[in-house]
Amino acid sequence: MRALQAVRGTQDVLPEAARRHRRVVETARAAAELYGFAEMATPIFEFTEVFARPIGEHTDIVAKEMYTFNDRGGEELTLRPENTAGVVRALISNGLAQSVPLKFFYSGPMFRYERPQKGRFRQFHQIGVELIGVAQPQADIEVIALGGRILAALGIGDRVELQLNTLGDPASRASYREALVAYFSARASELSEDSQRRLERNPLRIFDSKEKTDQRVARYAPAFADYLNPESRRFFDLVRIGLDRLGINYRLNPQLVRGLDYYTHTAFEFVTAELGAQGTVMGGGRYDGLVELMGGPALPGVGWAAGIERLAMLIAPPPPPSPVALVPIGEVGETVALKLAEDLRGSGFTIDLGYSGNLARRLRRANRINAFAAILLGDDELARGAATLRNLANGEQTEVTLAELPARLKALADEQILF
Ligand code: ATP
Ligand code: MG
Repeated sequence: MRALQAVRGTQDVLPEAARRHRRVVETARAAAELYGFAEMATPIFEFTEVFARPIGEHTDIVAKEMYTFNDRGGEELTLRPENTAGVVRALISNGLAQSVPLKFFYSGPMFRYERPQKGRFRQFHQIGVELIGVAQPQADIEVIALGGRILAALGIGDRVELQLNTLGDPASRASYREALVAYFSARASELSEDSQRRLERNPLRIFDSKEKTDQRVARYAPAFADYLNPESRRFFDLVRIGLDRLGINYRLNPQLVRGLDYYTHTAFEFVTAELGAQGTVMGGGRYDGLVELMGGPALPGVGWAAGIERLAMLIAPPPPPSPVALVPIGEVGETVALKLAEDLRGSGFTIDLGYSGNLARRLRRANRINAFAAILLGDDELARGAATLRNLANGEQTEVTLAELPARLKALADEQILF
């Protein structure tokens, strides 16, 4: 029955994956806090216009990837395809523009109707940061440094490359645009249909095309660097000097453009060679015109978003927690087990209660759940106010009074972490 399958492009996050996701989010959250970013969340759906105009009518996202629907009241809504527009909407609707600079961290699900493949889903999850209200290049530098710190803390710092480009200010962009239209028009017949359409509306997008033919033509296109005005060039130089000072390595990629329309100046991506065509794990840049475009005051901004699934695939699997298995053997054991489990949890131990089956079966479960110790509750020992404590690393077991249990479990836990 079709209804019993997850919808194409969606996945269940089972415990092993959930541990990976959690590691990514918690690592990012802790690092963001070090830089003074505060966590916030916006709704998963918004009025469609929150995304349509800022992201850009002719981007892939707005043209073909949004989940847009009418609710029962006839409102046209869209499941968020990314979170920058939502954060900016929230900043305007909550009147936060007075209190800039604002530094936000978020994590949560995003939705795009894309062709599912490795590292590309229709519901996926992102962590991200936005720094709003700072026009200085220090903001770009810190936002990139934060991204780099998270990747390093996840243990993948040396498996990703930072790629950097500038999209200049709107004036530079306009003159570059002209040069691009001239170049691509001359070779229009070699471009894919999609890119022929982009040519008129948004020629920069052609660089983002995944079509081989487009990439071949784009390789020899004019470089943005030659069209930057002095202010834009100066801004980019300052970003680069700052990164150099922090010892952050990067490679200039003049063809790096971002998927959304609202970027200016700095554009960057952290890319891995390990995930094929879905190698971008984190992407971001400066979006100075966005807040104003959305109806707020003219505030600059810079930020990034990273794909949790892609990061989760790269990190070492976080170990599952190692509990204590509580195994009642006789009738008395069954009656005291629930209460003893609660008491031990109260002392801070992770307790897995064996509900049924014979001793062998319950011990097999203890091994399967990676327990470091088992407490066997036999009727005879319980009559003496005691239980059997089994070290599951080496099978050794001793009789321990119930009063001593917490201290003995603690000693065992410490010992197993030490060796
Ligand atoms: P791509 O070029 O891979 O389509 P993008 O430019 O559309 O990426 P952004 O909008 O910049 O991606 O989103 C930031 C990050 O979110 C990406 O670098 C990627 O890690 C992740 N991401 C984007 N789309 C998806 C998706 N459909 N499935 C999983 N992760 C995604
Ligand atoms: Mg995309």
